[in-house]
Amino acid sequence: MIKYTIGVYKAYKNSGNLCFHRKETKKSWKHYFIEIDDYNEDEYSFGSEWVSSIKDIILKRRQLYKKQFICLECDVAFTDYVKKNQDESENCPNCDGD
Ligand SMILES: [Zn+2]
Repeated sequence: MIKYTIGVYKAYKNSGNLCFHRKETKKSWKHYFIEIDDYNEDEYSFGSEWVSSIKDIILKRRQLYKKQFICLECDVAFTDYVKKNQDESENCPNCDGD
């Protein structure tokens, strides 16, 4: 399984109780990712995990961003997860595969 970072946000660890935060509660980094199956790329799942602030920096560098693209082949708009500077995607669901 390969993890693709889609976001790292600060969050309260003890946020189970929505109304109250314990005074000593520190904010931690939460890493949100999609996990793609090595053998079947159509199989993926969303997940999250707590990470340290150092790992947060590493993850953010490799983060993927959800962007919208227009397919040059069929003019269909679609969204894909790409790197920050990437402004093209060839993963059009309309033209893809079978
Ligand atoms: Zn297309």
